[in-house]
Amino acid sequence: MPTRSPIAGVCYPRDYGEFMAWFPTDDDCADYLEWLRWPFGFACPGCQSVSACRLADGRYKCTGCRKCTSVTAGTIFDRTRTPLTVWFHAAWHFATQKDGISALALQRDLALSSYQTVWAMLHRLRSVAVRPGRERLSGDVEVDETFIGGKAPGDKGGRTHGEKALVAIAVERREPKGWWRCRMAVIPDASSASLGAFLQDNVEAFSTVVADGWGPYEKACDDLYVHEPHVAPGRKASEVLPAVHEVAGLVKKWLNSTHQGAIGDEHLHLYLNEYVFRFNRRRSGSRGLLFYRLFELAVAARPARYRQFIVAKRPKATKPAPPATRGVPLSLERSHADRPCRRAA
Ligand SMILES: [Zn+2]
Repeated sequence: MPTRSPIAGVCYPRDYGEFMAWFPTDDDCADYLEWLRWPFGFACPGCQSVSACRLADGRYKCTGCRKCTSVTAGTIFDRTRTPLTVWFHAAWHFATQKDGISALALQRDLALSSYQTVWAMLHRLRSVAVRPGRERLSGDVEVDETFIGGKAPGDKGGRTHGEKALVAIAVERREPKGWWRCRMAVIPDASSASLGAFLQDNVEAFSTVVADGWGPYEKACDDLYVHEPHVAPGRKASEVLPAVHEVAGLVKKWLNSTHQGAIGDEHLHLYLNEYVFRFNRRRSGSRGLLFYRLFELAVAARPARYRQFIVAKRPKATKPAPPATRGVPLSLERSHADRPCRRAA
């Protein structure tokens, strides 16, 4: 990546005004991707050669292996027919708005004809929102599970599924109060094996796992973690494990408001990725920095395909808006226009 500490106004736009000024055309967007992906100049993804010539269509032709590579090849923008200006607007809203944006709201905002295209674009962004090899949580970590989604409530007293998905949540406690980062994952059940796998994926070894009195945690922690069961008869679960309960409440509220609860179980993990991405960066001084972080991940990620997101059923299509090209969004490129209202006088 170009710099370890990206500078606002240099490495990323500080605000929406600057964003609009930086990326008026698809070529401007491609140039930014190129700067992010190859900060020291082109490097062939096939043979790592830095010797290449530029073709008329903007691609690079490697002089070593003769392979032609575009700036989007091998990233989440690979083989997309959606213009980069549309991608950039989607990413800006996704990263910088406090609650992100729903596919329907984005479709309306940009007057795009295909709901499926917008839906798949946001899912691609969600799929890269988790950084590979990210640091696991450490210190005192609250862990609990909650039920999300589905039509019927989960079985209250126990840990059975009902029709809801079981989601494990871990949150780092901050002394003397508050919390730092969180992690969430859909787990198959609340057995010691499933909880142990979640802990090993998300919590640094030898951290303290603060949980309720659920038996399987003891085995899940094994010798890897310090297990601290909090059993307080007469006290509410939200008082015993305040951090995870607060985060669980926030994510459910977000799913029900921004996305109106219309999340299929098969896609829930992607929405959790998105929530964690913004939650863990909530103290970031600049919203534009979140846009930059998302693009860092997007140019480094392997391409995702539409079919990867369709597990059981396709998203419900809305009535298409009028634009001419069905399915393929039009670029948001516009040349400078005099305001027609002035000419009408
Ligand atoms: Zn090459």
